[in-house]
Amino acid sequence: MKNDAIAIFGGTFDPVHYGHLRAAAEVAEQLKVSDFRLLPAGHPPHREGTWADAYHRLAMLELALAPYPDLAVDDREVRRSGPSFMVDTLASVRADAGDAPVLLCVGQDAANGLNRWHRWRELFDLAHLVIMTRPRSRPRYPQDLGEMFAERRVQRTRDLMTTPAGRVRQVEVTQLAISSTDIRRQLASGRDPRFLLPATVLAYIRKHGLYAQAAGA
Ligand code: ATP
Repeated sequence: MKNDAIAIFGGTFDPVHYGHLRAAAEVAEQLKVSDFRLLPAGHPPHREGTWADAYHRLAMLELALAPYPDLAVDDREVRRSGPSFMVDTLASVRADAGDAPVLLCVGQDAANGLNRWHRWRELFDLAHLVIMTRPRSRPRYPQDLGEMFAERRVQRTRDLMTTPAGRVRQVEVTQLAISSTDIRRQLASGRDPRFLLPATVLAYIRKHGLYAQAAGA
């Protein structure tokens, strides 16, 4: 049976690829979440900027997910002006969710650097953290983050559903060593990244001439 949790998978999706999509599908299935949302970062403060504008990244995500109505796009950061902090985004998701669990899904590389996120400790007041395995990324936590995770770690999905926020669960997903950086590099050097991302997304990239200058990205 599905539960009433809301899952948020945030990212720059610059561009979205099958590593994101397969991980999203598997987490939604394993955690039995019917409300699963991929949420593109609007104006990410923790990176030096994105290559494609937010409206392009949103459009590519919508194309990728168009055949899969059980995986939704949440455009609240793209619609908001100013820097997007996950803590603010989660506060607004929490307002929608009421007392239902909110699950913030991040890959292992993102989890390793979570303590650099704005007001990161408050994330645990707002959501559970679901850490997805990712090729070439092992758990490597600074002490404060490692302690925070150790205190909150649970093994069963059930433990995420009995309380709205505050727990941490690791989820194994199929290891696809695909990254947006690699796709951008391929495009900038004239190679063809087909089969690493949906054909509809690649067609959009070509139509709009995206990532042609992304060498070294
Ligand atoms: P870039 O190469 O530009 O850093 P990326 O491929 O890491 O991009 P992001 O949009 O930054 O993609 O990632 C969004 C989220 O998806 C992050 O939490 C990241 O860890 C996770 N993620 C990205 N690619 C994969 C993958 N292949 N397997 C599992 N998780 C992934």
